[in-house]
This record gives sequence, C-alpha cells and structure tokens, in this order.
Amino acid sequence: MRPGLIAALLGLILLLSAAARADAPAAQIDMGGSAIVMGASPNPVARLVGRDVARPFTLRLSVSRPIPYRVFLLDGPPRLVVDLDGLDLGGHPASTLFGADHLPGFRWGRMRNGWTRIVAELPGPYRVDRASLRAAAARPLIEIALEPVAPEAFAPRIGAAGDALRDLPAPADTPEPPPDDRRLRVVLDPGHGGIDPGAISDGQTEADLVLEFAQGLASALRARGIDVSLTREDDSFVGLEARMTAARQAGADLFVSLHADALPVGQAAGAAVYIWSGTDDDSAARQLALRHDRDDLLSGIDLGGRDDALATALMGVARTDTQPRSKNFAKFLTSRMALEGIVMHRRPVQGARFSVLKAPDFPSVLLELGFLTDSGDRARLTDPGWRARMTRTIADAIAAWANDDSARRALLRR
Ligand SMILES: [Zn+2]
Repeated sequence: MRPGLIAALLGLILLLSAAARADAPAAQIDMGGSAIVMGASPNPVARLVGRDVARPFTLRLSVSRPIPYRVFLLDGPPRLVVDLDGLDLGGHPASTLFGADHLPGFRWGRMRNGWTRIVAELPGPYRVDRASLRAAAARPLIEIALEPVAPEAFAPRIGAAGDALRDLPAPADTPEPPPDDRRLRVVLDPGHGGIDPGAISDGQTEADLVLEFAQGLASALRARGIDVSLTREDDSFVGLEARMTAARQAGADLFVSLHADALPVGQAAGAAVYIWSGTDDDSAARQLALRHDRDDLLSGIDLGGRDDALATALMGVARTDTQPRSKNFAKFLTSRMALEGIVMHRRPVQGARFSVLKAPDFPSVLLELGFLTDSGDRARLTDPGWRARMTRTIADAIAAWANDDSARRALLRR
C-alpha cells in the first residue's frame, strides 16, 4: 500500500454521505450482518510480535443506510476508534457483536451530536489496512480491516486531533455578570456515561447510578426555587472539558460533579467531597484523578485542550475568589452530612487534581456519594431511603451555602 494512502487512512477518514443527514432517520445497525472477523492466518509481523492473539481482523458493520464515519487509532493501550454519524445501536450491548470476544475490550455508546463511538482495544500495535463503505448494496456495509504491525510502525493519533474530530461545543462566550436578584443556578454533573460506564459492581454502573441520583437531586433543588441544569441528561458520553464549558454557558453559580467510584477494597468507604488542589492529598485521590482523566482520554476526545486557554488565563485571577467559596461549600456539605448521620470517608474533604474541578470562574466540588467497591456503600447507594436522605441533605447544604455565600459577597462589594 502506498505510504500516502496509509497516512490518510491512519489520520482521518471522513466520508460524507450525499444524503441530507439533518432530516434523514437514524441508521439502524443490523446485528446479524455485523461482526468482527478474525483473519485466518497471522501474517509474518504477527508471528514476529510473538502472540497468536495479534491477528489481522475486520470490523464489519451492516447498517440500514450509508452514514459518515471516521476511523483512528489511539495508544495507551492501543485502540481502534470508529465514530459513526447517526448510527442507532438499538440498545444492543457491545458484547453481543459476533466476534467481540476476540479482542481484549470492545465498547460502544452514544456521544453528543448524534454520533456513536466504537472503541476496540487491540492486543498490540496495528495499522488500518482498509476502510470502506459499500453503499450500493441492499444492506450498506462498513468494513475496517486492521493488520498487526511492529511497535515502531504503530501510528496512533496523539494530541492535535484537528477540528473535524472534535466534538466540543464552541468556547463559551464571556457570560454576562449575573444580576444580584437572579435565582441561584446549580449545574449538576453526573460523572461518566455512554461509552464510559465508570465503576461497575454487581451489574450496577456508576454512570447510571449517578445520573439517576442527579435527576432526583435536580427535582429537589427545583422544588426549592433553584435553577438546575445537568451536563448530561441521558446515557451519553460528555468529555471533561465539555462539562465545564456547559456549566460556564449555563452561568453556573455552583458546579457539583457526582460520582460513586471504585477503589481497591478497603481503601475507601463513605461519602467524600473533593475540591481542586494542584497536588493530590493522598494516593487514593491520585488514583481517582488518573482514572477520570484516563477514561476521558479513552473516549478519544478532548485531546486538544481548547478550553484550557480560557481556564489558564483566568486561573490566577479568579481562583483566589472561587477557591475559598468551593471550600466553604465543602464545609457546608460535610457538616450537613454529619448532622444527618451520613457515613463519611475518614477524610471527608480532600484536595485532588480532578480535571473537572479546574474551572477557575465558578466554585466546584466533586462528591463521591460512596464507593461502589465498598459493600456498605453499595448497599446504601442502591437503597431508596438512603438516597432520599442524601438528596435532602445536599439540597439543604446548597441552599444554606447560597445564603451564606451571597451575604459574604455583598459584604465584599461594600
Ligand atoms: Zn467516577
């Protein structure tokens, strides 16, 4: 294959269908005609790699109509990423794709803007040998053929992904300063979602659990006259920067990220509140920060850091204002939780380098409702009585903090 063609395939394959996508119905996947087909005989390079799992394979996707798609490779670990515009997976779990079990990992899920993402973990370095869309057939077929290569020939996409690959909304316009009498606006951020389920325990995913919790908390806050928006309303993937951008666009007075993560058993139990810190308070916090960022990278977007320019520019100026406010909210939250007898982590307020807390222009906290890896926490997290109590506690804390915060700010303005 010519080097130019290889580069083009490895970089970006973007096929625009002639159909007017805006009014076209979603394309349906045909599971019967879709599969991962393993190559029958490893090529010489695969033998060189020395693992019989590193075989050529083809991802075949049978779809109800031609759709635009793009293909690229990522490293750490090696992965194939396929984005498809307007593909409806029909609720089929990724594990039900025929042949998916031949790969170390295979996931799919919805993204924003109607795109669907497939991430296939590869057993070693590969290259895209061919990507094609057979549109004329009765059942259009997308075929992506991969071949194992020697490590030095692996060419994953790193960093500068190019705008065509990015899924981020335009950077927020500078928000209007809020009038003093306007209602409090809280942005709730249910962690993970879509292709990134977060922690999984006993069939319960963190992504589902925190989304449901966020929806309940949103109702409780609205009942108190507080404006609420969510960074995701359904089981779709939203990048970390996109979450902060959405909060900024909504004019957030407070950003609360909700999680129920996993840590090695015995390392963490009970609710914990994290605020931004340039250094992590302990190794558990570092593990969580790394995992959140890795999951974000795993989904392949937000590699460019477009919003970082804004964040960095504002960092020095605004953080001096927002950091004490975040800390104050963490104090309100943990003291309410203590009053309500909510089981808390041995260090209920901690600093961590969570990317989602980086926004310098509004106060933000990340609340671990509990840890799915702890059996006591897991029982509480899935108990409707506990959830109702936790919801009320957080809503009370937010309302009380908002009163205190506006009184402090009024004093400062004098
Ligand atoms: Zn999480």
